[in-house]
Amino acid sequence: MDLLSKKLSHHFLDAFGDTDIEYLSKISPQGLEHSCVVSSNSSLAEILGIDDNYLDNPDTLEMFSGNFVPSSVKPIALVYSGHQFGVWAGQLGDGRAMTLGEIDVSGELWDIQLKGSGTTPYSRFADGRAVLRSSIREYLCSEAMNGLGIETTRALCLIDSSTPVYREGVERAAIVCRVARSHIRFGSFEHFHYRGERDGVKKLADYIIQRHFPNSNIGPDGYRRLFENAVEQTAKTIAKWQSVGFAHGVMNTDNMSILGETIDYGPFGFIDSYDPKFICNSSDSHGRYAFENQPSIGLWNLNALANALVSLISVEELTAILKTYETTFRKKYYELMGAKLGITDVSEADSQFIDRLLLILEAEQIDYTNFFRSICEYRSREENTFLANLFKNRAGFDSWCSDYDDRLRQLSLPREERRSNMLAVNPKYVLRNYIAQEAIDAAEQKDYSLVNRLLTTLQAPYDEHPEMRRFASNPPKWASAISVSCSS
Ligand code: AMP
Ligand code: MG
Repeated sequence: MDLLSKKLSHHFLDAFGDTDIEYLSKISPQGLEHSCVVSSNSSLAEILGIDDNYLDNPDTLEMFSGNFVPSSVKPIALVYSGHQFGVWAGQLGDGRAMTLGEIDVSGELWDIQLKGSGTTPYSRFADGRAVLRSSIREYLCSEAMNGLGIETTRALCLIDSSTPVYREGVERAAIVCRVARSHIRFGSFEHFHYRGERDGVKKLADYIIQRHFPNSNIGPDGYRRLFENAVEQTAKTIAKWQSVGFAHGVMNTDNMSILGETIDYGPFGFIDSYDPKFICNSSDSHGRYAFENQPSIGLWNLNALANALVSLISVEELTAILKTYETTFRKKYYELMGAKLGITDVSEADSQFIDRLLLILEAEQIDYTNFFRSICEYRSREENTFLANLFKNRAGFDSWCSDYDDRLRQLSLPREERRSNMLAVNPKYVLRNYIAQEAIDAAEQKDYSLVNRLLTTLQAPYDEHPEMRRFASNPPKWASAISVSCSS
């Protein structure tokens, strides 16, 4: 008996399936041959109220492989548009993703989506597929980000197959089951706005308000709430990205969630040695989406969203709300960076002190994640040779440490308490590209064990996981040669 599909509702389809304006297309997946399970995320299954053995049911496995659509399930692909690399790209849409329906999680609906399950009316000339390597990256990174406490889409399971896909060479097709509170993007609103379909913008906004802000009324207050939330949550999510050294890689407006959650994992990367100019996407030749540009690109994208909402919210109000972005970002960012150093109640002087440290890390090319994990053990300038040895310019770091000692004295928190606070916010494990690559190489040989071990490690990145210790050391030399592009 296939119980999982019975849990799915079709709230979005019911609201938008039968309108003059096109929001979506009803579609059928194109399944994978010889599908097999790479990994299933039991902690997410539990949140969704799904039995842990759900994939033992052949119908359910075939549903997640795109081979079987239970009669109660009605897959849909959504249309959207967007600005790509700053240029209006016109209509896009779910070109290789389809939403199967929604599951109720404590009164809130979460979308269940297949990514890589074949073409849709929005595929343009592409094949509707996702290759195994990029599916592994999305699967692991969404769970890693969630483990780091960063708002993100989630991943329920990952299916491999023998279906060939043609990229630079032949690869295998895979499907990730992506789970999200919403798959509506900034570009969804831009789509209707630029087509002159004001009713389309309004109906979509009304839907988001009803589904995600049930305490707000449909009308001016609700529209403001929707936009305020987008501004606030985008600022906070990007502040969190910056604090863990995460670069998204393709911050196009079609890859920005209306709820401000991280979505669409492609050529992302975590910084190894600290470099604000880090560009993780080899297709980004001008560095538009370089690490240090992410906060301002977030604002650029919110401006594009504001433009798309002018029929609902006055320009004065949109402008006033946009103005809050920078303050929200800075406050959150320095609060997070302060916490990484055990500093609470971060002041303006603290922000300069944090910036000073980052300049030193940049000049000395120090590994970002490992530095912050190590500084959890800090005692004082005299007793920190383990850290100071990392620096060529010892004097520069020493002088920073003297000021750090002064600041810690002011805080007068017992060292053990500070240490455990810091260990809870400085991850030991992040999904560096080379780690993902090792898991991919093994999976391509049908060995899925590393994917699964990494899943549980990255879901608890602040824990020690002694058996995974080698992934917490500085990356090997070959790591810097890895190149990740949009081709996935
Ligand atoms: P992305 O850069 O992955 O966000 O994709 C940009 C647009 O291209 C989106 O509308 C995707 O759905 C679509 N797309 C990307 N890859 C494929 C593919 N292999 N087949 C069909 N559409 C795709
Ligand atoms: Mg996308």
